[in-house]
Amino acid sequence: MSYLSTRGGAAVTASQAILTGLAPGGGLYVPAMFPQVDRRWIANLSRMSYAERAVAVLSHYLEDYTPREIEQAVQAAYAPDRFDDPAIAPLRTLTDSTYLLELFHGPTLAFKDMALQLLPHLVRLAADKAGEKREISILVATSGDTGKAALEGFRDVPGTSCTVFYPEEGVSDIQKLQMTTTGGSNTRVIAVEGNFDDAQTGVKALFTSPAFAEEMNRRGRVLSSANSINFGRLVPQIVYYFSAYADLISRGAIAIGEPVNFVVPTGNFGDILAGDYARRMGLPVGRLICASNRNNVLTDFFSTGRYSTHRLFYKTSSPSMDILISSNLERLLYEAADRDGMLVDVWMRQLKESGSYSIGEQRRDALAKVYDAGFADERCTAMEIAEMQTRAGVVIDPHTAVAAYVLDEYRARTHDARPTVIVSTASPYKFCADVLASLKGRSAVEGMDAFACAEELEKLSGIPTPKQVRELKSLPVLHHRRCGKDYEQMAQAVLD
Ligand SMILES: *Cc1c(COP(=O)(O)O)cnc(C)c1O
Repeated sequence: MSYLSTRGGAAVTASQAILTGLAPGGGLYVPAMFPQVDRRWIANLSRMSYAERAVAVLSHYLEDYTPREIEQAVQAAYAPDRFDDPAIAPLRTLTDSTYLLELFHGPTLAFKDMALQLLPHLVRLAADKAGEKREISILVATSGDTGKAALEGFRDVPGTSCTVFYPEEGVSDIQKLQMTTTGGSNTRVIAVEGNFDDAQTGVKALFTSPAFAEEMNRRGRVLSSANSINFGRLVPQIVYYFSAYADLISRGAIAIGEPVNFVVPTGNFGDILAGDYARRMGLPVGRLICASNRNNVLTDFFSTGRYSTHRLFYKTSSPSMDILISSNLERLLYEAADRDGMLVDVWMRQLKESGSYSIGEQRRDALAKVYDAGFADERCTAMEIAEMQTRAGVVIDPHTAVAAYVLDEYRARTHDARPTVIVSTASPYKFCADVLASLKGRSAVEGMDAFACAEELEKLSGIPTPKQVRELKSLPVLHHRRCGKDYEQMAQAVLD
């Protein structure tokens, strides 16, 4: 299997795509074709552990990794001591047609762990395959969750370093503390004076600057990315769509071949795109429902076919979805354009130069056969958290609540009664102040810090505060650096 850039150009191997992250010219790597699986292959998954399912899926994509390499990487990534649930990605039943796929049982309490526990192993192996002797410098722009997950994945991995840029005012208190208390000899955390798009744009500029690459090379380093633009982030996410489906089969909740919907809280479009890749491989997916918060650029895109960043940026209680430029959408555009890299290149230029592009009505209608989209504003999100607790006795985080709300709205609009999986992306404890405020009213959390909120939430939910949150209270803050949002300052911060 080789990999192509969404903007055209030469093919590379899986390990080359993973090692470089971004293709030359700014494109994203995509598989040259989608491996096909049949019903028997899918049915077999239902008898496997999560790690075995991961090996089965990854083997289709990572053709220049040996079976032994894949197996060892997967065993290390999904080791029982790294996740606090033996199922790794447990599927919880809410009603007879609604399920919650919990992806937050890893070390940093958000779904980013599903990929970032594995990626460092894939990068390390890729570097060895390429005979790369330079240090692999991972640069990350984070809207909150990727940063910590990347730091935990790469900390103390020999031959690598990990530098994270986060928007100074754009992450929750717990998220900020999770990052700034990270130990390890090779980790660095920098606050950017701007929002997530500023941080992401800056990091992308560093990646595509030949001068910066040359300067890093002079210092014995080579850049790589742990953002979801890296194919190595995407491929582990395909696994849990198959895993959820396999669990539904083994419970007798669906017949083999029966389509299942997924509703996915979406920001950079990496999570939901992995679901689409699973579908293109042969997983029976009905609808992929793209759920946005008030930053509903994707909702508008799916309804009009026009992507426009001429809009206000809102900070919300689901900060990991506070995004105007959704990077991985480019991979879907590539499919929508029938894999015409030149056309994608034109759209991406228009986006950069004028802040918008349009794919036309025909392509929009083709996408609408698979995708639906909706959004939840702040009031609806808070209401959904409270309602989910009353209706199902489950406390969900604001990102998951956005998805649950959009599903309610989708069902009311379409009367689609298919079994549907809500992809649950974070532990409520990661956003405990907003969750508690949704359950008890804003005034109930007045003056309380995140730890007091966690204690209160524990009483309400009956789920103990995860130790990753409890221990933050006593860990020293190790990272204090800030920098401006322009290229020069961010480049200097990395070089320092
Ligand atoms: C990153 C993240 C999302 C959005 O996922 P994308 O792949 O960027 O669409 C949703 N919820 C949480 C909790 C996240 O950390």
